[in-house]
Amino acid sequence: MKTPLLHSGETITTNEIFRLASLFLYIILLLHIVLAAATQHISITAASALAISLLTLLFFVALGRYVWPQVVAYGQSRILFEMAVVIAVIGLLTLRPILPSVPLPWLIGVAGVFPLALGTGIALTAVVSIGAIGLGLNAQLGMPLNDWLPNMYATLFVGLLATLLAKALNTNTTALSQAYKNERRFDAIARATRHIFMIVDAKYKIMYANPALQEVIGYTLEEIKTNNINAVIHPDDVEEHNKKLRYLRDTPQSSIFSRHRTQHKDGHWIWVETSGYNMLHDDAINGLVFSIEDINARKDAERKLAEEHTLLRAVLDLNPSMIYAKDTEGRFTISNLSYQRRFGYTSEDSLRGKTAYEVFLKQASKGHEIELYDIADELHRQDLQVIQTGEPLEDLEIQGIWESDMRSWYRTNKYPLRDANDNIVGVLGITRDVTDRKEYEMRLEYQALHDSLTGLPNRRFLLKAITETMAASHDKHSRLALLFCDLDFFKSVNDMHGHDFGDKCLLELTRRILAELPADDFVARFGGNEFVVLTNASMLEARTKAEMLLQAVSRQLIIDDIVVKIQTSIGIVLQNPEHKNPSDLIRDADAAMYQAKERGRNRAEIFDATLQNNATKRAQMDAALRFALERNELSVVYQPKVSMIDGTVKGFELLLRWDSPVYGSLSPTEFIPIAETSGVIVSIGLWVLREACKQLNIWQEKYPIPDLTIAVNVSMRQLLQSSFLSDVTTILENTGVSPSSIELELTETSAMANPLQTIENLSMLKRLGLRLALDDFGTGYSSLAYLQKLPIDVLKIDKAFVHGLGKNPSDAEIVRLILALAQTLNLETVAEGVETPEHMLRLKKMGCYLGQGYAFSQAISAAEAEELLRHAQPFILA
Ligand code: C2E
Ligand code: CA
Ligand code: CA
Repeated sequence: MKTPLLHSGETITTNEIFRLASLFLYIILLLHIVLAAATQHISITAASALAISLLTLLFFVALGRYVWPQVVAYGQSRILFEMAVVIAVIGLLTLRPILPSVPLPWLIGVAGVFPLALGTGIALTAVVSIGAIGLGLNAQLGMPLNDWLPNMYATLFVGLLATLLAKALNTNTTALSQAYKNERRFDAIARATRHIFMIVDAKYKIMYANPALQEVIGYTLEEIKTNNINAVIHPDDVEEHNKKLRYLRDTPQSSIFSRHRTQHKDGHWIWVETSGYNMLHDDAINGLVFSIEDINARKDAERKLAEEHTLLRAVLDLNPSMIYAKDTEGRFTISNLSYQRRFGYTSEDSLRGKTAYEVFLKQASKGHEIELYDIADELHRQDLQVIQTGEPLEDLEIQGIWESDMRSWYRTNKYPLRDANDNIVGVLGITRDVTDRKEYEMRLEYQALHDSLTGLPNRRFLLKAITETMAASHDKHSRLALLFCDLDFFKSVNDMHGHDFGDKCLLELTRRILAELPADDFVARFGGNEFVVLTNASMLEARTKAEMLLQAVSRQLIIDDIVVKIQTSIGIVLQNPEHKNPSDLIRDADAAMYQAKERGRNRAEIFDATLQNNATKRAQMDAALRFALERNELSVVYQPKVSMIDGTVKGFELLLRWDSPVYGSLSPTEFIPIAETSGVIVSIGLWVLREACKQLNIWQEKYPIPDLTIAVNVSMRQLLQSSFLSDVTTILENTGVSPSSIELELTETSAMANPLQTIENLSMLKRLGLRLALDDFGTGYSSLAYLQKLPIDVLKIDKAFVHGLGKNPSDAEIVRLILALAQTLNLETVAEGVETPEHMLRLKKMGCYLGQGYAFSQAISAAEAEELLRHAQPFILA
C-alpha cells in the first residue's frame, strides 16, 4: 500500500497568496483610477501624477513578483516599505482628489493583503497603523463619526483576519513539511533494511509492506494484492503459527514471536523469525505490525556448526592420541575419549572443570599421592608456561605412571590456544603413546653403546661415561682411575684355536673381571682384546684392583676341554687437571699399558709424567703434521747416488724435510714415525712421489742421461693402504714418467715384519714396472727364504756397516756377505753413508760400485742437484 505523499508544491503558502492578492489590489486600484478619470473629468496635478506613476511602478513590481516568484526576494522591511508606498499613494490620491469617494475600501484591502507577508507581531502593528491612518484621512476629509468608525472596525477586522490566516497557514506548512520529512525517513529505513516490515488489518490483509518483502519471499506487494496470495506456511509449522496469529489479533496490545518456514515464490522453504505487535488500538496504525527476518543463512550456519562439531568430536574421539584443552587456570575444557579412558572418566562432562591435581590424585593408589602430586605439578607448570609465553612445548617425553602403563612411553606436545583477537585462552595438549618407537630407540641406543659379544659397554659408551664423570668431578672431589687392560698374546690364542674359542675365552674373562670388581665400577670392552675399568679409587686402591685383575685373568681357563692360560698387561692412570678430555685419559693409560708390555707383560704399570710429556709432545706434533702439507712446510731434498768407478751421477734419493714454525727444522727420523702412526704418511708419501716424478720429467727432458733414477722412501703403512697401487698408477700416468726410472725403497725391518704380505704387495708394484730396493739392509733379520721371493732389484747396505769399514772387521765381514748374497740373488747394491775415500776404496775392492754419502754430497736442493747433472763427471775420484 502506498500512502499519498505530500509534495511541497501542493501546499499554499501565505507568500503565494500575497503575490496574487497584491497584484490584484494594484490592478483594481488602477482600474478604478481609469474609470474615475473617464467619468469624472479629473484634472491631474503633479501630486496625483506622482501617485499614479508610483502605483504603476508597484503594479509592475507585483506583476514581476507574480511571474518570477523565485527571482524576487521578500524581506520583511521591503514589504513594509512597499506597504508604506501604497498607503502614501492612497493618501495622495484621496487628498488630491483623484479618488472621489472615501479611501477606506483601499485601506481595508491593504490591511487584508500585507499581513500575509509579515510576521504576526509586525502585521498587527501594521494593521493598527493602517487603521490610524484611515482615521486621519477621514478626519481630513471631514467625514462624520458614524461613517468612519465602522470603516475603521472593518479595517482592523480584515487586518486581524489576514494576520490570523497567515499565522495558521504558516504553522500548517511547517507541520506538513516536518511530516513529509518523517515520511521520507521512514521510507528510507524501510527500504534499506533486510527485515520485512508489514502492517495488516484484522483480516490479515496487507496494508503496508516494505520492499524487503520481495527480497525475502519473492512476491511484490502488488502481486500479493492483485492475486490475493496468502503466505504459505510449512505444514509442520502452520498450526502453531496460526494459533499465535489468532492470539495476537484477539488480544489487544499483545505481541508474539514465531519461528517457522514459509514458502518462497520459487517454491523453496525459508526459515523466518517473526515478531508481531497488535496495534489495532492505535488509530495511526490500526493493524497488526510484523517484523520478519530471513534466518535461512543463520540456520545454515547453525547446521554447519553442528556438523562441524560432530566431525570434530569424531576426530577427537577416534584419535588414539590423548587430546585435551585447558583454560588459563589449568581446568579441563575439552577432552577426548582416549584421555578420559586413561584417567578413568566416562564422559567429557565429568572431566570438565577439573585440574590436573584433582585428576591425578583421584587415581593415585595409596602411598603414591605425593609422587602423583609432583607429576601433576610438573604438568601444570608446563601448561602455564605455554599460556604465559605463547610458545609451544614439543616432544615432552614421560614414562607411564599407573601400574597398568608403567612400561609405556608418552610424548606430548602443548600448544597455546588463542581466541579471535589472538588472546591466549588456554592450552591444547596432544599426547601420543610412543612406546614402540621408544623401545626401538632404546634398543638401538643399547646396541650402539654395548659390545654384542660380552654385553659390556663399548668404546663409545666408555667415552660418554668418562666425559660425564669428568664433568661431575669438576665440582665434587671424586677421584677417577682408569685401568687399561690388554690381553697378552691373545692373537695367538685366536690363531691357534679359532675365533669361536677366542670369543668363549673373552666371555669367561668378562665374567671374571666383573666378579672381581664392585658393581659400581664401570667395565667396558674397548677393543678386541682390551678392557677398560673406570673406578672411583685412589692410586693404592687402583693398584690393588689391577693386581686382583691380573690374578683373575691369569688363572687357567678350560674351554671345550682345552686348557689355556691368558695374561694381561694393565696401564693405570689417575685423572689429573692435565686431562682435558676422555682421550687424554685413555692415551695415558694406554701408554702405561705399553710400558707394562715392555717390562715383561702380565703386570700393571702406573702412568708417569715423563711418559706423559713424550706422549703429549708426540700428540701435538702429530696435530701440527696433519697441516704441514697444506701449509707448504714440507720440502724434499736430493742426495746423489754416484758411480764409484767414474764419479758420474746415476740418480738421486729423495729425502723429506719439515720446516715447522713451531718445532723448527726436523729430521725425518723425528717425524716420520709419528706420521706413520697417525696415517698422515699416506698423503705425505704420495706428495713426495708426485714431486719425484715431476722433477724427473724436467731433468730427463733437459739432460738425456740414460738410466737416471730417482729413489723414493716408502713406509709399510703406505704399502698396506689398499689404494696405494692405484694412487701410484695415477701419478705415473699423470706425469708420464717411465716406471722403471722410479725406485721405491722399503726398509728391511718393515718388509720382514710381515713378509708374506710384503711379497704380495711388492709383486703388484713390480708388475707396474717400478724398481724396488730394500733399505737399511743388514739391520733387519731377513729370512733367506723370503728374501728370495721378494721381487726386489736393489739392496742398500746400511750406513752402520759402511762406517765400520777399516775399523771393525765384523762390519767388513757383513758387507762382504751382503755383497755375496746380492750376487747370488742377482741384485744391484748401493752403499749408504759413504763418508771417506777409504770407504770408497774398500767398497770397490769388495765389488760394490754405487755409493751415497757425504763423501760425495749431502742431500741438496733441486737446483743444486741440477748443477751436478750439468757436468758429465761431477765428482773426481781420488
Ligand atoms: P734413509 O732412507 O736411510 O736415508 C738416508 C739417511 O742417511 C738420510 O737421513 C741421509 O741424510 C743420511 N745420510 C746420507 N749420507 C750420509 C752419510 O754419509 N753419513 C751419515 N751419517 N748419514 C748420511 P735423513 O734425511 O735424516 O732421513 C732419515 C730417514 O728418514 C731416511 O733414512 C728414511 O728412512 C726416512 N725418510 C726420509 N725421507 C722419507 C720419505 O720421503 N718417506 C719416508 N717414508 N721416509 C723417509
Ligand atoms: Ca732410503
Ligand atoms: Ca738407509
